[in-house]
Amino acid sequence: RLVAARIAAGEVIDRPAAIARELIDNSIDAKASEISVDVRGGGIESLSVIDDGCGIEKDDLPLTTQPHATSKISQLDDLYHLNTMGFRGEALYSISSVSKLSISSNGWTYTADCTTDGELTKGGCERGTRITSEELFKNLPVRRSFLKREASEAQLIKNTFISKAMAFENIHFKYYQDGALKLDLPKRNTLMDRVLDILTIDQKLMRSDFVFLESENSIYKIRIVASLPSLHRSDRSGIKIYVNSRAVDEYSLCQAVSYGYGEALPGGAFPYTVVFVDEDPELVDFNIHPAKKEVKIRNRAEIHHAISSLIHEKLPKSIP
Ligand code: ADP
Ligand code: MG
Repeated sequence: RLVAARIAAGEVIDRPAAIARELIDNSIDAKASEISVDVRGGGIESLSVIDDGCGIEKDDLPLTTQPHATSKISQLDDLYHLNTMGFRGEALYSISSVSKLSISSNGWTYTADCTTDGELTKGGCERGTRITSEELFKNLPVRRSFLKREASEAQLIKNTFISKAMAFENIHFKYYQDGALKLDLPKRNTLMDRVLDILTIDQKLMRSDFVFLESENSIYKIRIVASLPSLHRSDRSGIKIYVNSRAVDEYSLCQAVSYGYGEALPGGAFPYTVVFVDEDPELVDFNIHPAKKEVKIRNRAEIHHAISSLIHEKLPKSIP
């Protein structure tokens, strides 16, 4: 059973940033209004995510690290109506098979790792939930040897943190690295404010270089934070696509952004554009890939067209 656990875990937990991704998703699903990420030693030594969400009942704590334990799918049918970030019920199980995991809520702490039976002790987080992963890959030296240096792993965690925070402006996000608060993103009233908080902190861009574009019908809602044509870069990495609040690798929708700019940008130039597509979960299938970065969008052609025409029609072509 131990061996099977380690193999299964390898698909999902390849580095500390993957742990951060899963724990932040859980805090979002727990309806947290504040999420803190605390990273030490590149997240290999320890990585904690602390939230003020719904918490976990004492009796449920030991169940959270069981394979396929999830509180998010009650009937199989729910798989086709997903509106939570998690649904496989394997993240905490996988993390506990590659590190020492402690889960603390309602004044109790459950500690589990691959070598011992879990242990429930009194004490710890009273409100919300605190989950800590320590000594990542201690028992898997080969896997550990594939990790980059601590500073690079911390950077990847920070990128994951930023990518999640981008889509949830109503959650206060804090990122601590080796004891220092590195990023503080207070709640914002609009998505555009959150996106610009991030773009202007992280990449030193200016708010006045961006516009907000929106279009909505009964099937989808598209919101775009788009840079004016005066601002651009020479690669695609400034284009981000979110579908139902998840960042996705979606080449065709990045292309839709470029089509929208068309002649407004010089050849070989790409904008800084963040696109949020929201639609009925029935039209979107995240089940293909464990990391949920791939998505099957049933009305992809329609969304593609909607993105490019929204940019093409509404983007100011020159600075007013
Ligand atoms: P999934 O998110 O797919 O359900 P996980 O392994 O990530 O599976 O989590 C297992 C369960 O543990 C969740 O379904 C949820 O009930 C509980 N849980 C995990 N993290 C939190 C949290 N931060 N707050 C409240 N409940 C949590
Ligand atoms: Mg989860």
